[in-house]
Amino acid sequence: MTAKIISGTETARQIREELKQEIASLKEKHNLVPGLATVLVGADPASQVYVGAKEKTSKELGIYSERYDIPAETTQAELLARIDRLNKDPKIHGILVQLPLPKHIKETDILYAIDPKKDVDGFHPVNVGKLMIGEADYLPCTPHGIQQLLIRSGIEIDGAEVVILGRSNIVGKPIANILLQKKEGANATVTVCHTGTRDIKFHTRRADILIVAAGRPKAVTADMVKEGVVVIDVGVNRIGKTPEGKSILVGDVDFEAVKEKAKAITPVPGGVGPMTITMLMLNTVKAAKIAAGLI
Ligand code: NAP
Repeated sequence: MTAKIISGTETARQIREELKQEIASLKEKHNLVPGLATVLVGADPASQVYVGAKEKTSKELGIYSERYDIPAETTQAELLARIDRLNKDPKIHGILVQLPLPKHIKETDILYAIDPKKDVDGFHPVNVGKLMIGEADYLPCTPHGIQQLLIRSGIEIDGAEVVILGRSNIVGKPIANILLQKKEGANATVTVCHTGTRDIKFHTRRADILIVAAGRPKAVTADMVKEGVVVIDVGVNRIGKTPEGKSILVGDVDFEAVKEKAKAITPVPGGVGPMTITMLMLNTVKAAKIAAGLI
């Protein structure tokens, strides 16, 4: 069996097209323009690329965007003051603070200062709690992107054995919670593995859907999966540079070997990555509708 390639690039393009139309209609019918503020502290090159991509996508879709590039030496109090101004700004419906932050700033203090209604990353404890009880306004972007990729690729999630490698707060735990809900596009039996798991292969070989967010190249090899598995590779690992100086990216899965056994698999790049930014845009549109009392 050679796997069907699940293209995040293509699915993200479809969702962006839908969002573009919705944004145009919100403007026409309600004079409402969703607004996103991105905040970058310091000059980490990868973070600059991510924030740049978020700003560019906002503009392409018709989302109003403001970008704040703040020096690395900024104090926590100054950053909190910026968040406070954005919380009060009616043009801004979503606030995204790019992580990681410099060491002298306590990340949780900043994330918890964002108004939960503007927390389009879905990292505020209020939104984490709402997700847990199945009442989420904003699903965190990467896990939501994974769920949409599965649904829009026609993968049956209801009743499936889903195995997740990784228990981070931004990927592993929230995707486990999302797929566990007694809802359409979920209702799976979910197992979460991590470095404390005794026999990872025992679990991965049972998976109908295997979601890998370990941050380790080749964490999943062909002997770890069963024939017909669906594999979602969240990992992004930079393993070197091309002669032209571009980063060489690989996922967490031994793609070439595993694709021979899988029914479907996401590539890296071009899998989960493009979905993450798209879900941020979707949350920003939702935040604008909530603020305007439309939902
Ligand atoms: P993280 O915070 O480093 O967490 C990694 C998790 O994987 C931890 O829970 C760790 O277990 C577990 N783990 C590590 N090695 C393992 C192994 N061999 N078997 C089983 N579990 C293992 O990482 P993250 O933030 O979730 O990100 C994971 C990967 O996804 C990274 O490559 C990251 O760059 C990528 N990512 C991509 C996107 C995107 O949009 N495409 C978004 C977010 C993250 P312990 O808890 O026991 O340490």
